Amino acid sequence: MKLWRDFSGLRVLREGLTGHRGWQPMWRDPAPKAAYDVIVIGGGGHGLSTAYYLAREHGITNVAVLERGWLGGGNVGRNTTIVRANYALPGNSEFYSHSLKLWETLESELNYNVMHSQRGLINLFHSDGQRDAFVRRGNAMINQGDDAVLLDRDGVRAHLPYLDFDNHRFPVYGGLLHPRGGTARHDAVAWGYARAADRHGVDLIQNCEVTGIDVAGGRVTGVQTTRGAIEAGKVAIVVAGRSGQVAAMAGMRLPIESHVLQAFVTEGLKPIVHHVVSFGMGHFYISQSDKGGLVFGGDLDFYASYASRGNLPMAEHVMDAAMSLMPAIGRAKVLRSWGGIMDMTPDGSPIIDRTGIEGLYVDCGWCYGGFKAVPGSGFSLAHLVATDRHHAPAARFRLDRFRTGAGLMDEEGTGVQHNLH
Ligand SMILES: Cc1cc2nc3c(=O)[nH]c(=O)nc-3n(C[C@H](O)[C@H](O)[C@H](O)COP(=O)(O)OP(=O)(O)OC[C@H]3O[C@@H](n4cnc5c(N)ncnc54)[C@H](O)[C@@H]3O)c2cc1C
Repeated sequence: MKLWRDFSGLRVLREGLTGHRGWQPMWRDPAPKAAYDVIVIGGGGHGLSTAYYLAREHGITNVAVLERGWLGGGNVGRNTTIVRANYALPGNSEFYSHSLKLWETLESELNYNVMHSQRGLINLFHSDGQRDAFVRRGNAMINQGDDAVLLDRDGVRAHLPYLDFDNHRFPVYGGLLHPRGGTARHDAVAWGYARAADRHGVDLIQNCEVTGIDVAGGRVTGVQTTRGAIEAGKVAIVVAGRSGQVAAMAGMRLPIESHVLQAFVTEGLKPIVHHVVSFGMGHFYISQSDKGGLVFGGDLDFYASYASRGNLPMAEHVMDAAMSLMPAIGRAKVLRSWGGIMDMTPDGSPIIDRTGIEGLYVDCGWCYGGFKAVPGSGFSLAHLVATDRHHAPAARFRLDRFRTGAGLMDEEGTGVQHNLH
């Protein structure tokens, strides 16, 4: 049994005493082969988990993940790491519930410390109407088999004493606690899946941009890349914010707009924020990393863009919301900010489906929320690619709902506008 030796305490001790010269790269660096059974375009969280579950669950190992940059350089390494299963609508509810269950056994399954921390997530409410909405959401979560606890004002104060409870615009009335919600170390998730997929024989090919998708007689036959043409029986497009561009290579127009989402981190502080806190009225959310940085973010920048960085007006808006909720944060220094490209659908819910081209699949539309979906999405897409049948928890994530209007899942109730979800 090789796995236990890789990161055992004894191994770490031995390497520490011998100059760390014994560590090996965690995955191979293979040249692309001429042909694969399955090509996954995109080496983010979803692409890597898809490749892993194809191998692990379905025994399909002649698989390549093609990544234009480096593994984990996209949104999977840029997000604010919140993992939760607190959706209300049928479709989303069962999918995220399944994904959270996969998170709960992920570290032992991958033998990799992804620092999954179920520290609890609290969604604050600020009016009687909002309380009613959160009671409904909490009941939906419990009906799905997940956990939810309604907190009154004093209940929130016991957990989050540092909030401004009497803010004139948005006094805190209470909150919905989701105890199994929390965070995970984002890039460790990419690395853990990458290592596990590689060990099943999957080729992880970095610096390999897909520039074209080959179709003949209504069937996908392979891809063109910056490292040459590669044939494939099946191809899955799993490129998050670039979904529209890559689908266009096969002549498809997806119902996706790409928008920038920013995030921020402060200098390291002593532990103060022990949960994930979400302030819906100001659209601000915060947690504290294990290194001590306060990690927070808010709204999209509100214009369509492929730039992985945002602009100052939204930075100001987020700081403003932070100060309204938690005035003490004004003493912390922001160290860094960054952005990622979000694949926004008109109803705010994702797509895992076949396309009109045989053998070509899409997995996209994760909006703000695709990090927590990494295990569930990979599991469900792998099932679809391997069997050509939808995996039950993701069965409603159909592409044609945007054509027919049937089965839309507008979790936020904001209507058909990509940037409002
Ligand atoms: C600031 C921010 C905060 C967020 N916070 C959260 C959160 O707290 N919780 C949560 O659940 N979600 C969150 N998200 C959303 C989440 O990160 C994404 O929905 C999810 O990571 C997207 O899936 P992915 O990991 O596969 O994407 P990515 O990591 O972006 O992977 C897609 C990959 O495809 C590659 N690619 C693109 N085009 C090509 C091509 N032509 N050829 C080859 N490769 C290509 C890209 O280089 C990229 O590596 C946040 C996102 C951001 C930006």
